[in-house]
Amino acid sequence: MFLLEALKKYAATDRTAIRYREDMLSFAELDRRSDAFAAWLLDTFGDDRTPVMIYGHKELDIPACMFGALKAGRGYVPVDTTFPRERAAQIAEEVRPRVIVDFYHMGLEAETVLDDAALAEIFSSGGEPARGNWIAPEEVAYILFTSGSTGRPKGVQVTAGNIASFDRGVAPWFVLPEEGGVCLNEISYSFDVSVCALYYALSRGMTLYTVDRAALNDTPVLFATLRESGISLWVSTPSLGELCLQSEQFRTALLPRAQKFVFCGEVMTCKLGRQMLERFPGAKVYNAYGPTEATVLVTAVEVTEALCAARASLPIGYGFSNLRCEIADVETGRYLPDGKEGELLLLGGSVSPGYLNRPELNERVFFEENGVRGYRTGDLCYREAGLLYYLGRLDGQVKLNGFRVELEDVESNLTKVSNIARAAVLPVCQDGKVTGLTAFVLLEKPDGLPSLKRAKQIREALAGTLPAYMIPRKILAVDSFPLNTNGKVDKKALAARL
Ligand code: AMP
Repeated sequence: MFLLEALKKYAATDRTAIRYREDMLSFAELDRRSDAFAAWLLDTFGDDRTPVMIYGHKELDIPACMFGALKAGRGYVPVDTTFPRERAAQIAEEVRPRVIVDFYHMGLEAETVLDDAALAEIFSSGGEPARGNWIAPEEVAYILFTSGSTGRPKGVQVTAGNIASFDRGVAPWFVLPEEGGVCLNEISYSFDVSVCALYYALSRGMTLYTVDRAALNDTPVLFATLRESGISLWVSTPSLGELCLQSEQFRTALLPRAQKFVFCGEVMTCKLGRQMLERFPGAKVYNAYGPTEATVLVTAVEVTEALCAARASLPIGYGFSNLRCEIADVETGRYLPDGKEGELLLLGGSVSPGYLNRPELNERVFFEENGVRGYRTGDLCYREAGLLYYLGRLDGQVKLNGFRVELEDVESNLTKVSNIARAAVLPVCQDGKVTGLTAFVLLEKPDGLPSLKRAKQIREALAGTLPAYMIPRKILAVDSFPLNTNGKVDKKALAARL
């Protein structure tokens, strides 16, 4: 695999692979630790190919575990600490890993659970497994769990071949004039945009400069961190760009080496584009788009003044060379010509083999056409002069600060809270962007509680099953739900109540 080859290549240099707070990990040490982890996996579990689950945030040794798994011919499942224990346990039930690396002592169950002390011991024991053990192109390299409409997260499987295809597609967009450099490493490892840093940047000998959630939530720390980072390639959600732009410090003087800013994962506004061009006149700014199911990114466009002035919203870009983008009629599935709105379909080498253990869903959203794998994105789009424009979702999925949330996932978890008979969740939007969620709940029996107290209790109950970003800010009790003609909750009528 190209990344594992690159680790070996840069291990022979004195380059730094990852920086996290005061700690640094060289390529040589990353290569050595991942080799040691792989050797331990092979010694302990032989040929077994079950993926390794990793529960943590941005710990310096997470990549060594990921790449160690790949070197032992198995995949990994990164689960960020935003996932509460119960949701992480659901993922473990689904994956059935034999090994869980748990940096937070969450009490997750598997045959072997390693904490950082156990990991340090494994790293110190050394070993260098033969390349013949490395992951093969058709094998699953990682499984990322995203919000699922059933109320349980669903695992998107991505093969080593999918990642190689992504890397080929993204390379012309990400390439920097000089070798080396520093890439922002801020996205949690359970969100696929982190693959840009882990695979594209590391395989080119770049240093990952880690910014964790604690730094993000503390502006002075965030800016002090960025100031000393030397970042040349910035990949993040537009939400992080908007947060940084609230400070006047966020300009070339703070990041003098920054050459490319790539925003992806959610709608990028023209306003963000304009502000970035103004604050970083020497850098290039891009809007990029892609679903986890087609491996991170599939389209991109350079944002210019002219593009920002042309329309109310920015295009999501030109399709990458590694796959084909088609717009299909939502009713008939027929491919449509330029200018017509329809569902964006993606076909090519970066399309996932499917969700783990979800045959019916796979049947619905994945397909084969003349031997090429395809994915129905659920995104309403149109194309003009080669550029794709995004108009919104065809289902109840929203993006909240870049996080993917299925409204039905939140609704399903709300009905598991005691005394809630039915629930409906609506996105709250500002300037065309989802800024939060509001839930309406129908109680089984009156609880006599003041609404603020009830909302607090429900939120606390949800915190046990859902990541914090999926918990509705406002929770309102209703006596009945307005229903539409097919007996479903009429969300438009509910929205009118807001
Ligand atoms: P994820 O799998 O978490 O990356 O989410 C993929 C979904 O995020 C896509 O199907 C879109 O709905 C949305 N998305 C990603 N990038 C963009 C973008 N640049 N503009 C608008 N929506 C985006």
